[in-house]
Amino acid sequence: MALTMTVDGRPAAGAGTFDVVDPATGAVFATAPACPPELLDRAMAAATAAYPGWAHDGEARRGALRAAARAVLGAVADLAALVTAEQGKPLAEATTEVRAAAAWLHYFAGIETGPQIVDGRRDTAIVTARPLGVVAAVTPWNYPLALAAWKIAPALRAGNTVVLKPSPHTPLATLALGELLRDLLPPGVLNVVTGPDPLGAWLCAHPVPRKITFTGSTATGRRVAAEAATRLRRVTLELGGNDAALVLDDADPARIADDLFWAAFANSGQMCMAVKRVYVARPVHDALVEALADRAATVPMGPGADPGVRLGPVTTRAQQEYVAGLVRAAVAGGATVAAGGRAADGPGHFHPPTVLSGVSDTDRVVTEEQFGPVLPVLAFDDVEEALTRADATPFGLTASVWSADPDRAAAVAARLDVGQVSVNAHAAGVRPDLPFGGRKDSGPGVENGHWGLAGYTQPHVLVRPPSDDQP
Ligand code: NAD
Repeated sequence: MALTMTVDGRPAAGAGTFDVVDPATGAVFATAPACPPELLDRAMAAATAAYPGWAHDGEARRGALRAAARAVLGAVADLAALVTAEQGKPLAEATTEVRAAAAWLHYFAGIETGPQIVDGRRDTAIVTARPLGVVAAVTPWNYPLALAAWKIAPALRAGNTVVLKPSPHTPLATLALGELLRDLLPPGVLNVVTGPDPLGAWLCAHPVPRKITFTGSTATGRRVAAEAATRLRRVTLELGGNDAALVLDDADPARIADDLFWAAFANSGQMCMAVKRVYVARPVHDALVEALADRAATVPMGPGADPGVRLGPVTTRAQQEYVAGLVRAAVAGGATVAAGGRAADGPGHFHPPTVLSGVSDTDRVVTEEQFGPVLPVLAFDDVEEALTRADATPFGLTASVWSADPDRAAAVAARLDVGQVSVNAHAAGVRPDLPFGGRKDSGPGVENGHWGLAGYTQPHVLVRPPSDDQP
């Protein structure tokens, strides 16, 4: 049965449809409804009408988010199958993604939003975190459900209403989420619209939203920020990353290779916080390249729905071709292919996990965000040099430092110019209760935890004398 958009608590079919491609076959396997401007206006009007009632009752919001978390858990199998079909990741990873979406809803249902009392010498200030109004939420194609939950859970908990738009490459799971939550939330509280671009631009240019929360590329993020500036509305931008992993000379390549491999290649490398460059101390360089290449050569790749598959296809043909182009350019510049190398022939968007050594700092595979299954490994001679090279990027999302001595690694990690850094793991701080966000071109604002919740609120300060203080 065709999935529908959710507008004002009801199904909405839209004006026509657009195609959804299965990345494992390259063939259209479904269509999704296209939202015309008039329907977007209706979604915004519904979110506006629902706002006062929703903003008013914090306990009702807690209860609704808990119910939403339960509903998502109850539909794990169906939602995961949709994620795999449209995005490509192995079913086990899609299942983890859906469970993460439920965990985020559950976490924000429980978070405290109560007023803070700040006592002065002669008066008392009551600081209340008030919601903003209607939030426009735009998500990318790599984690359609998890990243939707990162936005709707705090936005709704804070008392805002939402119009959510997924990537046109992966609309189905988000449409299904809208259907699933339709009867659990009051009409208009969560609206889900889909369509090919320029729907994203329409959403961000619409006069109604008081906040835009966007996850996607830096290039699109700049357009969203420019649009937000015209109406001076709040904006949180979770943009790209070019995360470095620094492997110090006392690290044991055999021990760390598995974790490092999956930090780079899970979801076929299509993660903002994937390891995208490895800088390794020269004495352990060759052993690490070999250990990573061994894994790349043996990991089972195939359609995400097939049992035993650990790596799926790249989600879009354009991204597969982009990754292949980066590999070709690096090889032309003198890089060595330690594993993988060439995109698979055939209609599916497969590209084998590719490990490159002998890469130069100026190769595009180092300077650009590959967002796909290729990993450059670069040798360094001293830690100061490695720190400088790791930070020599416009991005500053996450990073990691690997060493037999966690204290030594932590001292190095503290000096990296990023939003999060982990020791002997990568992106270990991607949790609902810790702030996630980057520096520089990785975009302004953070998501998750109290810090993310604050991005959906405006402090309201009421200063008053004690009750018995007559003027
Ligand atoms: P993208 O920028 O092409 O698209 C993201 C979303 O923006 C889509 O829903 C798209 O339809 C919409 N969009 C397109 N033009 C728009 C406009 N003018 N105004 C508003 N919305 C518009 O990104 P993508 O290719 O879907 O995702 C990959 C990128 O996302 C990578 O750079 C990756 O690093 C980044 N990403 C970042 C994070 C993070 O948390 N920092 C997480 C995941 C992905």
